[in-house]
Amino acid sequence: MRICARCDRQIQGHEAYEEQHWPSMSGPGRVAYRHAVDCQRRPPPTQTAPTQYRGYGRAG
Ligand SMILES: [Zn+2]
Repeated sequence: MRICARCDRQIQGHEAYEEQHWPSMSGPGRVAYRHAVDCQRRPPPTQTAPTQYRGYGRAG
């Protein structure tokens, strides 16, 4: 089973795909698959804005 690295969905047997080889320092490396068509990229995870600390009281 091949999973598209872009949209994170399974690539069906009839769908065209392309391989991307990622060389690894140790080992045979990894192979990533992608749809050959411009598939929908999964949305990035929503990131909450970091809480901004305000000063404790004011001098004076
Ligand atoms: Zn895809």
